[in-house]
Amino acid sequence: MMTNTPSVSETPACARKRSHLEQATVSSTTEAPANARMVGKAIESGAIEQEVLGLSWHKRRAPRVSRLGELVGSIVHEVNQPLAAIQLNAQTALRWLDGDPQNVVRARTLIERIVQDSGRTLDIVAHIRAMASGRAPQQTNLTLDEIIAEAMTFLQHELQSNDVIMSLDLTSSPSEINGNRSQLHQVIVNLVVNAIQALANTDTIPRKIAVRTSNLADELVCCTVEDSGPGIDPCHLPHLFEDVFTTRPTGMGMGLLISRSIVAVHGGGIRADNYSSLGGARFTLTLPITADSACTDFEVRGKGWPKSV
Ligand code: ADP
Repeated sequence: MMTNTPSVSETPACARKRSHLEQATVSSTTEAPANARMVGKAIESGAIEQEVLGLSWHKRRAPRVSRLGELVGSIVHEVNQPLAAIQLNAQTALRWLDGDPQNVVRARTLIERIVQDSGRTLDIVAHIRAMASGRAPQQTNLTLDEIIAEAMTFLQHELQSNDVIMSLDLTSSPSEINGNRSQLHQVIVNLVVNAIQALANTDTIPRKIAVRTSNLADELVCCTVEDSGPGIDPCHLPHLFEDVFTTRPTGMGMGLLISRSIVAVHGGGIRADNYSSLGGARFTLTLPITADSACTDFEVRGKGWPKSV
């Protein structure tokens, strides 16, 4: 288990740099690393992100992979999750329909999820296309808490099949943010799936993930996703949000890059560290609250979703 003290496996060079490496932070208010790049916004014009980040990545660094390659990579990465869910739900629905006795009610529930997930897949592709052509994604007023609730429903099967204990600790007064529902859903799903994958590679029992939200000074919504996994090698922290950075044999190294880009276009920031109270990695994202947006506890919690799933 990784702790906040230097690990014995650190190289001297890594240990020397450690004070600078304790947090990998990307924020719209700080200058992004020179090689920070946007995926779907692999977009040479890069208008949206450049405006938000105040950076001109194309001028700073020649692209390592082609724009088309990035675009394809981001689509493959993002639609993989909902397609896998669609296939699983379709197979299970068929079993309920073929069973004796037939269970049409359960099959129907699964088919409803298939409709939702296929809609989400179409949304993802539409947004990546929109970003690639420089069009700004549609934004509405929403709360991060409702996005998290939707993401938990979407990931329910994955959490259960990986024996993960998920706890939600959401603010009692969620504030509205102006954002794109599908994109923010992608960010939460990416972070939780990464945590599940980190836990899957350890013997740590129990496997825990905690998602928390809070309001910071009536200006920002803060969300942390923490896990009880091995944490992040301090030498990797500065590279996490770079393109194609992965330590996983089957990884594409695009999830955090895409997440960072989405958060940036929303005027927020995302960072990673090993300060999780669960002992593993912690990802913190902040998004600006829409002015005069505080909504009542009842509006969000009234939907009856649980504190832990
Ligand atoms: P991929 O999942 O395809 O590797 P990501 O961009 O999502 O791509 O993640 C990049 C890398 O960040 C991972 O390969 C892993 O090394 C590290 N990482 C991300 N989340 C976690 C986590 N919760 N715990 C430990 N390492 C993580």
